[in-house]
Amino acid sequence: MPSTHLRQNQLLKARHIVVKLGTQLLTDDTGKLDQTYIQHMADQVAQLHSQGFWVTLVSSGAIGAGLAELKLSKRPKDVAQLQAVAAVGQRKLMTCFHDAFEKHSLEVGQLLLTRSDLDDRVRYLNFRNCIAATHRFGCIPIINENDSVAVDEIRFGDNDMLGALACNALRADVLVILSVVEGLLDDQGQRIDLVENAKSGMKYAREDKTALGTGGISTKLEAAQLVTDAGEVAVIANGRIANVLVELFAGRQGVGTVFVPAKKKLNSRSRFIGQTSRPSGKITIDDGAAKALTHKGKSLLATGITQVKGHFEHGQVIEVLSTDGVSLARGLSNYSDAELKLIQGKRSNQFLKILGREAYAEVIHRDNMVVFK
Ligand code: GLU
Repeated sequence: MPSTHLRQNQLLKARHIVVKLGTQLLTDDTGKLDQTYIQHMADQVAQLHSQGFWVTLVSSGAIGAGLAELKLSKRPKDVAQLQAVAAVGQRKLMTCFHDAFEKHSLEVGQLLLTRSDLDDRVRYLNFRNCIAATHRFGCIPIINENDSVAVDEIRFGDNDMLGALACNALRADVLVILSVVEGLLDDQGQRIDLVENAKSGMKYAREDKTALGTGGISTKLEAAQLVTDAGEVAVIANGRIANVLVELFAGRQGVGTVFVPAKKKLNSRSRFIGQTSRPSGKITIDDGAAKALTHKGKSLLATGITQVKGHFEHGQVIEVLSTDGVSLARGLSNYSDAELKLIQGKRSNQFLKILGREAYAEVIHRDNMVVFK
C-alpha cells in the first residue's frame, strides 16, 4: 500500500486517536518536566480537539518528574521508594498538563491503570466507558500506569504497550507513539516511511532504551503490531517535530513511520480475548485437535487435550498450545483447571459420570475463541 494513500486516507479520516508521550520528550536536560514542551503538546491536542478529534493521551514522565521533585540523581532500587517517587511525580505531571490545557479552557482527567485492570472484563469495560464519558464532557483523558501500586509494571511494563492496549480497548483509529527518534530507522539510520508488517520491522530493532523511560524500539514495534493486528493504524514519530500531531492528521507526508493495519478489523470481543486479557492458564492439544481449530474452524473439545497448566475458573481466558508449544489460540474456558484435568482426553458423553452434572460439550466454544494465523 503506498504511504501517500494511507496517510491521506486513514490519518485524515481518523477521529479517535491515542497519543503516547515518552519520558525523554517531556523532560528537559536537567530531568525536570519541560513545561514549554508540554504546552506545545497541549496546543496541538487543543487544536485537534477543536477539529472534532477525540485525543486520549498516554503519558510517561511520572518517575522522571518525581526524581526531579525529590532531587534524586537516579531511580531508587527500593521498590517502595520508587513507588513514592512515582506518586510525587504523577501529581507534578498532572499539574503541568492542567496548567497547559487551562490556557485552552480544557479540563484534563487522570486515569491510572494497572495491567490487571485490563485483564478483567468488567474493569476493561469501565475503563472504556470512562474515557468515552470524559471526551463527551469535552475533557482530555490522560492515562499512565499506576506505578505506585503496580510493582511488576514498574519493573517490566512500559507505556508503549499500555498505549497499544488502551488504543485497542477504546477502538481508537490510530496509536501515535511519540519519542525522540524519527521513526523506525533502517541499517543506515534512515527513517522508514511505511512498514507493511510490524513484525518484519523487528529486524531493525536495536537497544536504545533511555535512562528515564523503560521502552525501546522493540516495545514500540510490539505495540505497533498489536494495534495493526486489530486493524488500526500505528505511527512512530519524533515528538520534537514542530506541530507533529497536527501535521500527521492533516495527512502530511514524510513524518514518522506509518504501520499498515491488517485488512480485517477485530471486533471488541476478539480484541479482549486474543490481545488484552492475559491468559490464566495454558492447555496443550494434540495434532488432530489443532487441525480442527486452525483449519476447520471448530470448537475445542476435551478429547484433544493432553495437558492442563495454571489455575483458572470457568469464563477465564486460557491459551491453547500445539504439542511443540506454539500458541494456536486463546479463548474463554467453559471449565476450571481442576475440572479440565478430570475430563481431558475424554468424550463429552462421559462428562456426566465424571463431573456428576450435565456440562458443555465444548471446552472453548468457537464464538469465544481467537485463533492465531
Ligand atoms: N509509567 C512510567 C512513568 O510515568 C513510564 C513508563 C515508560 O516510560 O514506559 O514514569
